[in-house]
Amino acid sequence: MIYLDNNATTKIDEEVLAFALPFLTTNFANASSTHRFGLVANEAVKNARKQVCTLLNCEPNEIVFTSGATEAINLVIKGLQSVPNRKHIITVQTEHTAVLDTCVYMESIGYEVTYLPVQRSGLLDLGLLKEHITENTLLVCVMFANNEIGTIQPIKQIADLAHEKGAYFFTDATQAVGKIPVKVNDLGVDFLAFSGHKLHAPKGIGALYVRAQAGRKAHLTPLQHGGGHEKGLRSGTLNVFGIVGLGQACEVAQKNMEKNTTKIAEMRDFLEKELLKIENTFVNGNIENRLPNTTNICFEGADSEAIILGLEDIAVSNGSACTSMKIEPSHVLKAIGLTDEQAFQSIRLSLSKHNTMEEMKIAAEKITKLVRELREML
Ligand SMILES: *Cc1c(COP(=O)(O)O)cnc(C)c1O
Repeated sequence: MIYLDNNATTKIDEEVLAFALPFLTTNFANASSTHRFGLVANEAVKNARKQVCTLLNCEPNEIVFTSGATEAINLVIKGLQSVPNRKHIITVQTEHTAVLDTCVYMESIGYEVTYLPVQRSGLLDLGLLKEHITENTLLVCVMFANNEIGTIQPIKQIADLAHEKGAYFFTDATQAVGKIPVKVNDLGVDFLAFSGHKLHAPKGIGALYVRAQAGRKAHLTPLQHGGGHEKGLRSGTLNVFGIVGLGQACEVAQKNMEKNTTKIAEMRDFLEKELLKIENTFVNGNIENRLPNTTNICFEGADSEAIILGLEDIAVSNGSACTSMKIEPSHVLKAIGLTDEQAFQSIRLSLSKHNTMEEMKIAAEKITKLVRELREML
């Protein structure tokens, strides 16, 4: 398998697995238990929390472990219902469905939600954002980096605009954490969500960063009640294996970030350059402000579903969503101005440090051959 779908999920690192596995086997204790084994698990959780904080540049009491980004996103958006008077949320059309669907839910309970459009590059127009933030705006919610096209938004400037009007700023940084520097203190974000399995940690673990200052004022309402874990924000027995894995993955990511970014971007650029040699192809989104591992390419006249199937041992994706037996074009590609047809002819290739240049050569050759074959069949 040549795996080029790392924005969907990543392979767990061997060293991360080796580090976390004993917490499923030899020491499976509950981190809340007061016996010796529980204390060891509790120490391991504390250590993991520190590792996460080192990557994000925050304090241990600002991290809430969750089951993933989706839960963290739900926790912050729904949790802010406790704030009185402000009933308006601003988000962006290219957000992940975890954000968009939660916002639709907020509309159903009486909130007004503005879904801002983006430019052809995928970037948000800050002037437009500024026009929409009012004294009634509770939350501005803009993703750090897009999962389909990789566009990186100017997070600090967006946070500043939100704060000027007293609104909170939340970013879904699931595609950014571990890939590019994300320092919450420098950026001034109030809430940030991410997920372990996007950075070579296990599935089923993620975290919400809650800025200590913001948290005191906002008093997030928890989604689940119970044992009062995670300072009451997320009750339920801690996933020690997942937490320890997430912490270790953060440390590994931090240690090798520059080296990996260079290597991954080189491979991505090579692959992209080779694929653009095919006639009638173009890159979707912004080439400058983009994740180093992602490219999204439209192959006009070749159906993306046929490409995915035809590639067999090469894993790539299109952003289409299957909703009740109808296939919908990617809402992200639509938002940057592609026609339905172009969206259905676009493929996302997302790399990781586990890929090799040799794989890029094979993938480029196979995709080129397949696209030409598919076009001939038209
Ligand atoms: C993957 C992803 C999510 C959802 O993460 P889960 O771990 O499935 O909850 C949310 N936002 C973005 C940008 C993602 O890429």
